[in-house]
Amino acid sequence: MKKRSWLANFLIGPAWIEDRVLYKQAILRGQLGLLIIGICLFYLIVDPLNAIFSFIPWYVAAFFVGTLVIYLNRRGKYAIASSVLLIFANLLVFVIADVGNPERGVFLFFIVTAVTGLVLFYHSNLNLGITFVVVSIVLAMLAYYFDLHLFEQLPDDGKLVQINFTANFILGIASAVLVVLFIIKRNNESEWSLLKKKEELEALTEELQQKNSALEKANKELDSFVYSASHDLRAPLSTLLGLIEVIRITDSTDELPSYLEMMTRRIHDMEGFIKDVTDYARNSRLGLARVQFNLAAFIDKLIVNFDLETTGTGLQITHDIDPEIVVNTDPNRLKVVINNLLNNAIKYFDPGKEKSFVRLSATLEDGDCTLIVEDNGIGIAWEYQDKIFDMFFRATEQSTGSGLGLYILKETLHRIGGRISFQSQPTRGSKFVVEFPAI
Ligand code: ADP
Repeated sequence: MKKRSWLANFLIGPAWIEDRVLYKQAILRGQLGLLIIGICLFYLIVDPLNAIFSFIPWYVAAFFVGTLVIYLNRRGKYAIASSVLLIFANLLVFVIADVGNPERGVFLFFIVTAVTGLVLFYHSNLNLGITFVVVSIVLAMLAYYFDLHLFEQLPDDGKLVQINFTANFILGIASAVLVVLFIIKRNNESEWSLLKKKEELEALTEELQQKNSALEKANKELDSFVYSASHDLRAPLSTLLGLIEVIRITDSTDELPSYLEMMTRRIHDMEGFIKDVTDYARNSRLGLARVQFNLAAFIDKLIVNFDLETTGTGLQITHDIDPEIVVNTDPNRLKVVINNLLNNAIKYFDPGKEKSFVRLSATLEDGDCTLIVEDNGIGIAWEYQDKIFDMFFRATEQSTGSGLGLYILKETLHRIGGRISFQSQPTRGSKFVVEFPAI
């Protein structure tokens, strides 16, 4: 909230006025009330010095009216305050204009009263505003063309006329300046708020576009998910049903173990698929939970979980990660990333090679951790290399996976602010490089 000046506080009171137009009008009304008081005080000194006493009661009355306007303004009685101000100002200008020579410049104040009427009532009661304009014009014409003899005519003393003209001219301009300043400020504010609204709108549009493309992406993913999920779940189920049927009709029990082995593998496939889907769902729903932990110890634990899968294959998983490296990230998400890479390196190992390996290494630099998972497996065919991160994409017939692994990995990595790149040579092996902020 912007702090108001003491003068503004004096003119409109301590209450906060939310509406900018009302606030500016209240300030202007208060300033005009103050100006009336100033003008009266000025003439209360100047007139007696020139032996003019007939207007003194008017000046005194005007002093009270100016005070009343400020009082009403401070109490929030804006319509009454504006009406009192305008009625009295019109009357005062009329009375003085009627008795004096037009060269005294009193008529200038009719311009001010007319414009003030319009400005103070423009937003709340335009008809009343226009009425005040008409009243000012009519009174000006009456005072100019008719001599109503309300008071005794002022003597046409050349020097006095000059003083009157100069004072009225300056005061008239001062009041006009207040009114015009109000209009200019109001205009500036409108333009500024329009500009601000435009900027807000642009930001909102951008946000909307981002949300839209996220929604489009989610929609596409959902489409391919429904398609592939139904296929991936149905295929092992059909195999299982087929195998059950075979078991039912077969007479030989010798084949049973191999049927059971096949059934177990299919169930594992389904289990893997369901695990992938849960990983994906968990990644998109759960918030980040950053923790500080030792990377080498963390990876040791993950590698142990793959022992069962590698026994008998000759595949060796090793790492040479500095035991001093401590990272700060979401361990559950990093686990999904590393597990997926290890899982693939094992799945796509090359049994034809004499020594199959999966090697992990890591460096920590400027708060960023670079983790490398390298294997000498079957590698990825050149033509598929730009697609392996797509949802449900499998680059080889050999894949028994869901084709979700690398897609989930990329999404998960994205949540911890990381990125992945890779190099792979068919028949020679692959190297995946994961980078993520670790402090
Ligand atoms: P999948 O469930 O088929 O393993 P992924 O998304 O994990 O799905 O991987 C997509 C494809 O990328 C795989 O089908 C496989 O052809 C290829 N791929 C991924 N990692 C490796 C790797 N280390 N070696 C060889 N091929 C890989």
